[in-house]
Amino acid sequence: MIRENVQKLLAELPPGVLLVAAAKGRTPQEILETIEAGVQIIGENYVQEAEKAFSVIGRRAQWHMIGHLQRNKAKKAIEIFDMIETLDSVKLAQELEKHCARLGKTMPVLIEINSGREPQKSGVFPEDAEALIYEVAQFPHLKVLGLMTMGPRFGDPEDARPYFRETKKLFERLKALSIPNVEMRYLSMGMSNTYKVALEEGANIVRIGTKIFGERPEE
Ligand SMILES: *Cc1c(COP(=O)(O)O)cnc(C)c1O
Repeated sequence: MIRENVQKLLAELPPGVLLVAAAKGRTPQEILETIEAGVQIIGENYVQEAEKAFSVIGRRAQWHMIGHLQRNKAKKAIEIFDMIETLDSVKLAQELEKHCARLGKTMPVLIEINSGREPQKSGVFPEDAEALIYEVAQFPHLKVLGLMTMGPRFGDPEDARPYFRETKKLFERLKALSIPNVEMRYLSMGMSNTYKVALEEGANIVRIGTKIFGERPEE
């Protein structure tokens, strides 16, 4: 089932769009199945879970952090991940920079945008992204490569469209600033129920869990 789901998705995605298999709650065996079916990037929400999967799978795939990253997990995170999609504060950037410098590693990051402006959610409000990017651009071991957003959860995927559209507009505006050490290359938005809308609105990374693995057991 996983195999067919992945193959169908990969056939459907336009060229140049990256598929991230959102793997929270899945076993290393399930993750391996997606890799055998052609998935190249695994998305993890928790460092501890990522560590477990990584110890089995290693560099057979790339690893993206797609959940909120706590500062005290930054050290472990930079050992595992190839990209942090959820950078949303200078303090976290400082912590990542410190550990990356020690390892001599440059970490690609996306800035997480709280496009729904939901107070309890992570990410920066759209109007605060520019200031954060200018600060992160000062860190030699971090490389801003774009934006990521979740958007509010809706039953109807169409309801997510305005949030994706606003994030794309922000993306283009930031790109036009040509900020040194910043490359606006990736726009990560869209999940199982919304990726089609997100693609129409300009996403080039989609993060898909349920449509690959099936419903999560705890839901
Ligand atoms: C779980 C998750 C996804 C995938 O959600 P599905 O609805 O299962 O496709 C994408 N992005 C993030 C940040 C997630 O936590």
